[in-house]
Amino acid sequence: MSSLLIKNIGAAVTCDEEDRVFKHTSILIEDGVIARIGADAGAADRELDARGGIVYPGLINTHHHLYQTYSRNIPAVQNLELFAWLKGLYGIWKHMDEDVVYYAALVGLADLVRHGATTVMDHHYVFNEAGDRFMDALFAAADAIGVRLHAARGSMSRGESKGGLPPDSVVQDTDRILADSEAAVKKFHDPSPFSYRQVVLAPCSPFSVTPELMVQSARLARSLGVRLHTHLAETRDESRYVLETENMRPLAYMESLEWTGPDVWFAHGIHFDDDELLVLQRTGSGVAHCPVSNMKLSSGVCRVREMLALGIPVGLAVDGSASNDGSNLLAEIRAGYLLHRLHESDQAPSAGDMLKIATNGSATLLGRDDALGMLKVGMAGDLFILDVNRLEYVGSDLDPKALPAAIGYAGDTLATVVGGQVVASEGRLTRIDEARAVSEAKKVWRRYLTRAGVLA
Ligand SMILES: [Zn+2]
Repeated sequence: MSSLLIKNIGAAVTCDEEDRVFKHTSILIEDGVIARIGADAGAADRELDARGGIVYPGLINTHHHLYQTYSRNIPAVQNLELFAWLKGLYGIWKHMDEDVVYYAALVGLADLVRHGATTVMDHHYVFNEAGDRFMDALFAAADAIGVRLHAARGSMSRGESKGGLPPDSVVQDTDRILADSEAAVKKFHDPSPFSYRQVVLAPCSPFSVTPELMVQSARLARSLGVRLHTHLAETRDESRYVLETENMRPLAYMESLEWTGPDVWFAHGIHFDDDELLVLQRTGSGVAHCPVSNMKLSSGVCRVREMLALGIPVGLAVDGSASNDGSNLLAEIRAGYLLHRLHESDQAPSAGDMLKIATNGSATLLGRDDALGMLKVGMAGDLFILDVNRLEYVGSDLDPKALPAAIGYAGDTLATVVGGQVVASEGRLTRIDEARAVSEAKKVWRRYLTRAGVLA
């Protein structure tokens, strides 16, 4: 048995059902699972000194496109909205290879883990002739860092010749997508409670996927026992597109394709009307809220307050790095908090609500709320520590639940722990040779953008 004792905790914010906060405590993790929380939690093989810091459940990112860390901050698309932005990027993405997927994922995961994330969902939807190896590359990157990964086998089947947005060069045919999706589930999906590897089926969006593929993906996912994810209600352009092509609003369209239910969550979910919120509530369909991306692409403000009031599952996400352009989920909590304060004043989700969205809300979206998203005996030993014993944080910890949103924490965590293993310590990734990874990652990035014609 392996065990880790985290001692000298100033406050442990549990995000449990009663929102308990334990002061001056310790946490014992045995074989990756929280065994005890208390002033004297016992002895362990290894000890981690929290130095009076605040411990939170590991953050869970529910929507990302890790490959986009290699196409961020590109001047030509910097000021565009979604459709024009995508059209400017498809031509770059088609040059992706296995090395790009692996190193771009390392870059994004490093940012996430250093800022408290312990479980990451990645939605990869660009598959070219090298695509057979992309899922392997993603899981290899997550293993190297030590984080839990839900990899969504994304897909695009509606190219320009079928009235879709992407060029035909980045779409695949339905049979190939379904065969590859099934193979990915069989190869990687582990449904056990403390699993590190899960697979999701995730056709990209209504404007890049045929209705046939949407329906067949839903049926395949349900026959294999995996979850469903797609982009929906992100922009007004998308609503117009679906109305024009299908004569329905986006959610009615998805419902007609069997795409609602507690096993479905949508990225963004901004442009839902009152009736559509009730459909989400009735069907238990969830929403991955991506505030920074929504602000950057001028997409709109997700109706989070109303969703929470209706009991609609809401999780937090950084979205792809080409529309964020970072992967810092801790900063996303603060950005979301401020966005809703501006928009809804005293009705906005509280700072503590934003933390809960990023922990147990996110766990619910991924179907992991039996094991992730809370500090509680029997839950996974996934957590992070913020060091508040620094000059700039004096006076910040009166309400530890609110700190990430209300104060914001700009630096790296004191430590990030996944399954009782320290994966980041004071900004240093513990499991990889970081200097070497930086050098390789730069080479791969340069080769890719040169191939794509962005760099000379
Ligand atoms: Zn996205």
